[in-house]
Amino acid sequence: RQTISDNDTIAAIVTAMGGQQGAVAIVRLSGNSAVKIVGRLFRTAKTMRNKENSHLNNEWNPKSHRVQYGNLIDASGTLVDEVLVLPMLAPRSYTREDVVELQCHGGDVCVRRVLQLCLEAGARLAQPGEFTLRAFLNGRLDLAQAESVAQLVAAKTSVAAQSALAGIQGGLSAFVQSLRMECIDLLVEMEARLDFDDEMPNLDINALITRIETMCQRLQQALATAGRGRLLQSGLQVAIVGRPNVGKSSLLNAWSQSERAIVTDIPGTTRDIVEARMVVGGIAVNLLDTAGIRDTADLVEKIGVERSEAVAKAADVIVMVISASDGWTPADEIIFQRIWGTDGILRQRKEQTGGVLAGPMAPPSQLATVVDECEDQPGSGSVQTPSLLVVNKVDRAAAGSVILPQEVQNAFFKRVATCATQGVGLQELDFAILDLVGLGHVSSEGQQWAVNQRQAEQLVRAQEALRRVVESVQLDIPLDMWTIDLKEAAIALGEISGDDVSEEVLTNIFNRFCIGK
Ligand code: GDP
Ligand code: ZN
Repeated sequence: RQTISDNDTIAAIVTAMGGQQGAVAIVRLSGNSAVKIVGRLFRTAKTMRNKENSHLNNEWNPKSHRVQYGNLIDASGTLVDEVLVLPMLAPRSYTREDVVELQCHGGDVCVRRVLQLCLEAGARLAQPGEFTLRAFLNGRLDLAQAESVAQLVAAKTSVAAQSALAGIQGGLSAFVQSLRMECIDLLVEMEARLDFDDEMPNLDINALITRIETMCQRLQQALATAGRGRLLQSGLQVAIVGRPNVGKSSLLNAWSQSERAIVTDIPGTTRDIVEARMVVGGIAVNLLDTAGIRDTADLVEKIGVERSEAVAKAADVIVMVISASDGWTPADEIIFQRIWGTDGILRQRKEQTGGVLAGPMAPPSQLATVVDECEDQPGSGSVQTPSLLVVNKVDRAAAGSVILPQEVQNAFFKRVATCATQGVGLQELDFAILDLVGLGHVSSEGQQWAVNQRQAEQLVRAQEALRRVVESVQLDIPLDMWTIDLKEAAIALGEISGDDVSEEVLTNIFNRFCIGK
């Protein structure tokens, strides 16, 4: 496809595109021919003055990590841009290949012209994540670190960025690697026993079981970070529900300090879903204001009702708003029953998911409150979306004057009194949300790496395999059966570090990166 066969050298714009215009933009090249390709385009002031040389001079021998100023010219010798060139020669670069960065004028047109020039000179457009893929393939990063790079770039809050950085620094990688090594050590020992059992001392079964159980516990600790990882990455969806006129839109406005929701006193005005973004305790929170849920013949209103239910269903947290001045009304009761009642949407969801609390793959595990289930399945539990009750308009009547049915009291994690119009109780709401998702006691400095869903799945796989080993040991099952499960655990951990990972998984991971990363 390319005119010149330097197909292994990739190029991409690595700075932001299409957003706010920047003064400087960067095109990055990586690969064996990066220096050769830039040499075809780049002229320092000196070589420009030396005119007869300017088209013949294909020899560019830059010093690594030394910035040079000059011009980029196309094949006909026409000036394309003035640039600063930063060569980072292998292996002292992000990809461990020769990397050249061209700092050109910002603005989408400028930087696209520079990229186009590089492509015409023989580079190939990088795939999403291809720079980081190369860094991984060349051993500069392991897979867990590479994934943290994507998380860092996508981070929406500083706490999320901090956690991704901890991942890049290798905290998770070291943890996974040490467990994987321990699996492999055990495996080697087992296989030695299979081959030379007579020559080895007797196996200390109890010590072995303790050792594997300790590994399971460590896996559990890592798994415990999954919920936080998910929260940091995708933020928290908080649905505000309630009958018309209790102050949902006012609350959304005051809480998020935006004017996105229209506040009116005509019941049922907010028909579309209004969204507001904010940050609470380092967590990105998406507030969703729903149309007033009401039993009504009005068609538009009815669509709004269905939409509200859909939003409530998809939310990580549901905030139900009632009014202190009206108390618990029949309309509140209808909404409550629709969402939390026996036939409510949360029960329906439970049926959809089979009622299984599936550890870290389900909605964040610490978000799920297990409540005792009704008669049909005694003792089993169902997953309820964590919920808060906001008693608004406390300027009109005391929150304590509202009498709630027992069933309602049980459904909510906490009751918070607010006056949306005066901004009262909003901080309590912040704390209640953080408490609800299990982050109330984490200081922002103590933040550390957290596993993502892919990693959590492999941790679970490793843990299950190790538990099978313990079982086999206890049941006195032959040694070669243990090694199968030990291998499985090692492979699962290798999927996290990237030591044992399939092409398909890699493609899947790196395709989610942006181009230029
Ligand atoms: P929504 O239909 O639930 O979204 O309710 P709105 O936010 O549109 O508010 C309905 C009416 O209640 C508006 O007139 C608000 O100004 C008023 N309102 C909202 N919050 C409070 C509050 O805390 N105290 C008082 N006194 N009025 C409020
Ligand atoms: Zn509203």
